[in-house]
Amino acid sequence: MARVGFIGLGNMGGGMAANLAKKGHDVRAFDISAEALERAKAAGCLPVASAGEAADGAEAVITMLPAGKHVEQVYAESVFGAAPSGAILIDCSTIDVATAKRIAEAAEGEGLTAVDAPVSGGIAAANAGTLTFMVGGSEEAFERARPFLEDMGKAVIHAGANGAGQAAKICNNMILGATMIATCEAFSLAEKLGLAPQAFYDIASVSSGQSWSMTSYCPVPGVGPESPSDHDYQGGFAAALMLKDLRLAMEAAEDVHASTPVGAKAREIYEAFVAAGQGGLDFSGVIESLERD
Ligand code: NAD
Repeated sequence: MARVGFIGLGNMGGGMAANLAKKGHDVRAFDISAEALERAKAAGCLPVASAGEAADGAEAVITMLPAGKHVEQVYAESVFGAAPSGAILIDCSTIDVATAKRIAEAAEGEGLTAVDAPVSGGIAAANAGTLTFMVGGSEEAFERARPFLEDMGKAVIHAGANGAGQAAKICNNMILGATMIATCEAFSLAEKLGLAPQAFYDIASVSSGQSWSMTSYCPVPGVGPESPSDHDYQGGFAAALMLKDLRLAMEAAEDVHASTPVGAKAREIYEAFVAAGQGGLDFSGVIESLERD
């Protein structure tokens, strides 16, 4: 088993670090939150006093931080000066493609190897060790990161060169945001046309309107498998995080001149939902903003 530095022990990172400790790794865990450190200690990690201390002597350094600016800062100020040259740096945060590429280049300049490895699956999957990882980096870097990621997930997929993991993540979530809104609209319209939600579900879930948003995460309560809609849209994947991912997708589209009108509309709809104070609700709660009298 290996020594792993884990930086960022929030909703996602807390469960991921706990799973590495459960698998027998010596996890040196750091977060700026004392509460998060306490939880990591209770889960079998060794809390340390700084990100540098977490990286020092580690075979793998894993970051799970809010955004690109945090990752870039932690790498520059703490990880680069402390991680041994043989360490693999694995950033699992969702960040912009350009920053992921920049970080990998900076790591190379320091004689280190980095991969971007964002995840699909929310807090429940992080706790259960069933995340999907999409990995950007060289073949050799992917193989070095793989055993650590397998200890936290059910699928580990090599997406391509550095930045490709983040590209896959934001493209996937652009589909998710758009299909969720389309599914919400369809249920609202169906109901106004006199169709019972259950009847519409039974038909569309086995017809060409089917999607993950409908059959795994139905935005209408009492229909389909249990989902956040059955709990007043509490828990699940926060609308504010969906908005973050859609913004990243639209920035990337702008950079490479891709045409993404539906993605842009989805961002606009989530922007309004979050601005109305609903950013903490699950993203399927957007159905409430689409209902008109
Ligand atoms: P979170 O805010 O719960 O956790 C982030 C943690 O980072 C916090 O505990 C914070 O104290 C810590 N932190 C911030 N700056 C730090 C620093 N300089 N040094 C050390 N620790 C620092 O966020 P989360 O929900 O765990 O999400 C983490 C990442 O995973 C984000 O990029 C998010 O977009 C992505 N993600 C989240 C979900 C989800 O369902 N929550 C799903 C997929 C991907």
